[in-house]
Amino acid sequence: MLQPPHSSLQVRVPSQRVPVRDRDQDAPWHSEAVCRRDEAGLFFAPSKEPTAARLSREEAAKRVCARCPVMVECREHALLQPEPYGVWGGLTAAERRVVLARRRRRDLELKKAARGTIVAAG
Ligand code: SF4
Repeated sequence: MLQPPHSSLQVRVPSQRVPVRDRDQDAPWHSEAVCRRDEAGLFFAPSKEPTAARLSREEAAKRVCARCPVMVECREHALLQPEPYGVWGGLTAAERRVVLARRRRRDLELKKAARGTIVAAG
């Protein structure tokens, strides 16, 4: 799995922190990521973060994403993986779950519609 461009402080487990210089460069869009140096630790929650602090941190991360030239690529990557933690492409993990649920519902409806069309035509 790719390392996020903003993984300097935290990846999956809070105790596993990846130094800036060790970040994975597999994804071409990583090189343009505005968050490549996330010294502020905006994109992943520290353990036991209070709700108010989390909301404030996530809004700050989203403001960074809003000026990022690779926001679309980053968001799609996070949705396709799917990435379970952190802010990616301007979306929190909870917001990505909503987007994915909507996509699943849409795909299901399209499949049902296609089956209905086939039955009606047959
Ligand atoms: S969209 Fe946000 S999380 Fe994604 S690369 Fe840009 S700044 Fe980082």
